[in-house]
Amino acid sequence: MKKEDIKRLSDQYPHLWSYSLLTLPEGWTAAAEQLLADLHAVNPPAEGYYGHTIPLHILHDRGFAMAFASVSDMGPGTPEQAHAVMTAVGRFRKACCNACEVCGQRSVSLYKEYTGGNQQMLCQAHIDERLWKSNVDIRADLIWQKGDDHD
Ligand SMILES: [Zn+2]
Repeated sequence: MKKEDIKRLSDQYPHLWSYSLLTLPEGWTAAAEQLLADLHAVNPPAEGYYGHTIPLHILHDRGFAMAFASVSDMGPGTPEQAHAVMTAVGRFRKACCNACEVCGQRSVSLYKEYTGGNQQMLCQAHIDERLWKSNVDIRADLIWQKGDDHD
């Protein structure tokens, strides 16, 4: 997430802000903003209230993200509010699965580095870019190995 998005969203939704949102890649900023707007609509802060209206935590790892939001801290709450929180969390997960982590365009696949390390949800353009780069890296490794054989 870009610095300006962090400031904008944390200023707009201080009652929902979680530092776990910082783990999200730039391409999923729109999904995060929609989640914050949805949760704000469920339980907006009362005048003069500065605490968290809905505790929120984000887990992002290897091309997927999930949001955890507690309805138990909303006071008595209503079944409709609980359903709206579940809907918002589900919408967020789906939006992350459908967006490129890098640019936010429609994702087409989960890309995994040939080394088994990094794994990301990417659009076709970013998959092509990674494949080209990894092909260059593989060739660089092969050239290095070939050089070793001649020593
Ligand atoms: Zn992309």
